[in-house]
Amino acid sequence: MARDAVAEIKARLDIVDVVGGYVTLQRAGRGHRTLCPFHSEKTPSFNVSQDKQAWYCFGCQEGGDMFTFVQKVEHADFRAALEMLAEKAGVELEAEAQSGERRGAARRRKRTLEINARAAAFFEHVLWSSPAGEDGRTLLAARGVDEGRARTFGIGFAPAGGGGEDALSRYLKERAGATADEIVDAGVAHHARGGRLRDRFRHRLVFPIREERGEVIAFGARALGDDVPKYLNSPETSVYHKGSALFGIDLARAAMHDRRVALIVEGYFDVMAAHVAGVPNVVASSGTALTREQAKVLSRHADSVVLCFDGDEAGRAAASRA
Ligand SMILES: [Zn+2]
Repeated sequence: MARDAVAEIKARLDIVDVVGGYVTLQRAGRGHRTLCPFHSEKTPSFNVSQDKQAWYCFGCQEGGDMFTFVQKVEHADFRAALEMLAEKAGVELEAEAQSGERRGAARRRKRTLEINARAAAFFEHVLWSSPAGEDGRTLLAARGVDEGRARTFGIGFAPAGGGGEDALSRYLKERAGATADEIVDAGVAHHARGGRLRDRFRHRLVFPIREERGEVIAFGARALGDDVPKYLNSPETSVYHKGSALFGIDLARAAMHDRRVALIVEGYFDVMAAHVAGVPNVVASSGTALTREQAKVLSRHADSVVLCFDGDEAGRAAASRA
């Protein structure tokens, strides 16, 4: 049964697209080539053959099909790789292969990602196209971030929300067909008295936290003025695990592959400042330490990480193997 799904997925997906979702492939003769994502090297020895639908690294002396590639690059077992590729291919895994609980969880994750995407679009619209976004535009300008740069990062603004403090929740219900529970599951609002929803982020500059392929998994929101807390994040949800998320990873990925080094900074503005300075291989850990999970994510893209945190120990920089 799993075998049929494997065959169907292989028929629908091209290994060049699957691998190309993680690394930048260059045409080389009849195949494609790139620097190996699994070992450190200066000249590309990682090959992908479209004809054979296979990959092989002459450095690692290892190869396989799209399933072994995804298992290796995602540090996933076969089952997890199967589910990821099935979703990408639009192949429905048979009922007995996926328990009802797993199906429910997958549906919830998908819905949360959809709601996050709609919320991000709402915040961005408020920032650039509404009078309510003026404070956000002023803060960005004061920090030297122009509109083009801000749009690259998807920066937005959460309005105060009006009397009900529920501007986003109303938008998601009316325009995205979201239910109250789905909105709360996504972490962008919570239940308030009288069956109402109250937006989590109000009168804040909002930074979408995206995963490697650019899907919005959470938000970090900075208060204006002296409101506390200064930074407020989404709670842990079905798609957001604070310990493994890295702000800017989607934009830093290619440069990290290129330079094999990842720079870690503390805050969202530090990442944008690095991009302005022409240093794109930068992510923010949103904390003062790099977690084991974050290091694991980075190890897929770089050989070493450099921590560039200021704060208590000014200018402290530590380098370690990712
Ligand atoms: Zn290799």
